[in-house]
Formats: sequence, C-alpha cells, structure tokens
Amino acid sequence: MTVLVTGGAGYIGGHMTLGLIDAGEQVLVLDNLSTGFAWAVQPPAELVVGDFGDAALVGRLIRERGVDAIAHFAAKIVVPDSLSDPLGYYDNNTAKALSLIRSAVEGGVKHFIFSSTAAVYGETSAEPVAEDTPLNPISPYGRSKLMVEWMLQDASRAYDLRYVALRYFNVAGADPKGRLGQSTPRATHLIKRGVQTALGRFPSMDIFGEDYPTRDGTCLRDYIQITDLIDAHLAALAYLRAGRESVTCNCGYGHGATVNEVIDVVKRVSGVDFKVNHAPRRPGDPAAIIAKAEKVRETLGWRPKRDDLDEIVRQALDWERRLHNRLGEPPDAV
Ligand code: UDP
Repeated sequence: MTVLVTGGAGYIGGHMTLGLIDAGEQVLVLDNLSTGFAWAVQPPAELVVGDFGDAALVGRLIRERGVDAIAHFAAKIVVPDSLSDPLGYYDNNTAKALSLIRSAVEGGVKHFIFSSTAAVYGETSAEPVAEDTPLNPISPYGRSKLMVEWMLQDASRAYDLRYVALRYFNVAGADPKGRLGQSTPRATHLIKRGVQTALGRFPSMDIFGEDYPTRDGTCLRDYIQITDLIDAHLAALAYLRAGRESVTCNCGYGHGATVNEVIDVVKRVSGVDFKVNHAPRRPGDPAAIIAKAEKVRETLGWRPKRDDLDEIVRQALDWERRLHNRLGEPPDAV
C-alpha cells in the first residue's frame, strides 16, 4: 500500500512525507517543484517530478505503485496573489483537483485526504468558527479550495471514494527533529517573515492593519504547529482505512494570537528588537479566525501535543538558520 502525496516537496506536504515515513508507510511524492524542493523529499520516500493535473501520469502511478490513498497538498496558497490571478488559482487548485479526484475514482483509490483551509469561512462573526458555520470565502484562494470540498462531497456520494478534508488554520513551526521547515521562496507568512526579520534578512517588517475589531486592533489567528497538523493527517489515514465515513474537520487549537502578540514572541525568543512598520490592511484578510477544535478530536481521536507559540517560533527560527546555511545567501530565495 502506497500513499501518493501531491505537493510532498513543499512545507506541509513535506512534513506529511516525513510523518508517513516515520509511521513506516510507503510514500510516493508527486510535485512539480514550482515552490517545493527535491531535497525536502528524503529517502525512502520517492519523488516523481510532475503535475498532479496530468491524468495520464497520475493514472500510471496509481496502477503501477499500488496507491491506496492520496494526500493532496499541492496548491497555490498566497491569498493576495489569488486576488490578482484568480483564474490561475481556479486552474491549479480547482480544475486540476477535479482531474486528480477523477484519477482517484478511475484508478480505484478509495481514500483521499484534502488540504483545505480556514479561508473557506471568510469574514465570520463566529468565534471560534465551527465546521457547520455558513461558508463565505472572501478570496479566490478560499473559493478555489471550497469548490474542491464540494467536488469531494458529491464524488463520495456517487462513487466508492471516502475523504477527510482538513481545514487548516495558520500552520507554523518546523519538524522538531530539525529535518524540515518552511522553505518557500518569498513566503509571506507572519511567523516566517518575523524570524527572517529577526535574523536580519529584512531590515523591518510590516503590520498589515491595526484597526481591526480585535483585542489590540491587529488580526487574530489560530497558529497550529506543523507536526501536530500532520498527526491529524495520519489519524485521518487510519480513519479512512478503517472504512469510516467522509468528514470535514477544522485543524487548529481553538485559541490564537494577534499579529502584535506574535511579533512580541518573535522578538523575545530571538532576542532581537527589530523594526516594525505600520502598514495598511492587506486585501483579503479577515479580522479573526479561530478554530472550534472539538470535531477533529472526537472524530479522528487527534490530540495536540505542541500547542506552544514560543516553541513554534523557536522551531521556525532554528529552521531559518539551517535553511540559510543550506541555500547560501540568495537574497530573494530565503
Ligand atoms: N501579517 C502581517 N505582516 C506580515 C505577514 C502577515 O501583519 O509580514 C499578518 C496578515 O495580515 C494576517 C496575519 O499576519 O493578518 C497572518 O498572515 P499569514 O500570511 O501568516 O496567514 P493568513 O492568515 O493570511 O493565512
């Protein structure tokens, strides 16, 4: 039995690959290396460089490698980019996902794990936000992912396919063993930008908006440690293989931190008091997104083990230092 991991050379997919290897699974990674790195796929996982929307390739891999489950991570994920390039996002995240789901159905793959996102909720007054909250994504990114949830829902009713869709809140941190972390060039994530600024890669960082209706005016997010998130995927795989019903669950801790609070932690943990600029709101950002986090515990039996923002930031810092040594010093690549 092999698990096909699309996007397995990227940040979250790469940690899934590690988690599967650690669990003794056979792992086949399919990644076009548009943002991932071949070095992130460590043996015994095998990397096939290609596109998950290439039905002929995916069909062949399913047939020849005994794939019983697909974990689908490959996606474009930058919310502001999705506003300027919506069709690119719908093509990659939605149209190609349709092709992948069809390949799964036609190839007899019965288990599908989908990387969804809290962006499907959009601007919501519910806090924390439950899975049955009305969905109102405000960015093409969120919509491109929500359409995949709908396709999976319909496909699982019509065909012999069961899925777990996991709606990620803000994923952060790195492998506690130091094997991998967030390596995406020009990443825009708050913690990544924070630790890069602390390490002097940028002279300063921006706070996007300080007039939100939150406790200090900056956006509130639920930061979940990457290895905890991967544990939810491993639980999802076991759940599907046990023949259970399709389900959609939030992945978050149920509480969060504001942008100001995160920056304070980065400054304290790094010991660097870097410069912060007061910038306008970033388009597409909801004020607050906190997970209602019971369903993933009740359904998949998941328990968080690393709910600690200091530790998350420490891991991100450690990884940033390692990445710097690995990649040398290309100014726009780290
Ligand atoms: N943010 C910020 N400065 C940055 C990067 C992010 O103020 O350099 C804010 C962003 O506007 C959002 C929060 O930090 O309110 C989290 O952003 P991130 O891109 O990490 O994740 P998102 O919540 O957009 O998925």
